[in-house]
Amino acid sequence: MIEISHVNKWYSPTFQVLTDCTTSVTKGEVVVVCGPSGSGKSTLIKCVNALEPFQEGEISVDGTKVNDPKTDLPKLRSRVGMVFQHFELFPHLKIIENLCLAQQKVLGRPYDKAVAKGKQLLERVGLKEQADKFPAQLSGGQQQRVAIARALAMDPIVMLFDEPTSALDPEMVSEVLDVMVDLAREGMTMMVVTHEMGFARKVANRVIFMDRGEIVEDAEKEDFFGKPRSDRAQKFLSKIL
Ligand code: ATP
Ligand code: MG
Repeated sequence: MIEISHVNKWYSPTFQVLTDCTTSVTKGEVVVVCGPSGSGKSTLIKCVNALEPFQEGEISVDGTKVNDPKTDLPKLRSRVGMVFQHFELFPHLKIIENLCLAQQKVLGRPYDKAVAKGKQLLERVGLKEQADKFPAQLSGGQQQRVAIARALAMDPIVMLFDEPTSALDPEMVSEVLDVMVDLAREGMTMMVVTHEMGFARKVANRVIFMDRGEIVEDAEKEDFFGKPRSDRAQKFLSKIL
């Protein structure tokens, strides 16, 4: 579903942020990406839906090359759900309007259908009662669940998450992770940057460990937690577990 092949990226001529990154995510697979701050996790995940350009290598999503000038990027992005650390809901729109906007504008879905889909997804993330509120009236955990519902409203073929729980108060982390666990168990293809190793243990198929722009480890979950091959991954794990 996602093929990342020998990707090199520089932010400036003297600063290479990604070095020869190669990995893949197959349909229905959940891959967790972890690693120290500044190791290039966000950059890599942004390259997948072309939010960041890269100079060398290739990435394709469901067979579509993201770095091909002929690729219809808005169309590609509409199929790739993305959830960030900061929820980035539209503050001036009600929750239900947040869920409908892209469905109508990008997919051309009629208003009634968009609302029905939005309501169904709000129910799924446990926020049926909040449809007519504004984002600021919701807790951080609730807003992040809205952000997930908003991404799902586009019927994505894959979901990318970049530290979706790291801006949340501790008591709100699990309500967001629970939604993500459900999604994983329903078979959604997911690439998730997170340090929540409990989540990784529960639903990840593979774990990727990055350090200084390189994929240092790309292993089955059991192997990663059982015995990471590299010193760097072992050190990282001993710090966060
Ligand atoms: P964190 O865990 O802190 O989120 P990360 O692994 O996601 O870190 P990135 O955000 O991908 O790391 O950043 C990798 C490196 O690239 C860092 O050194 C960062 O300062 C640098 N960087 C990120 N974005 C840019 C940018 N737009 N321009 C220049 N340098 C950048
Ligand atoms: Mg990051």
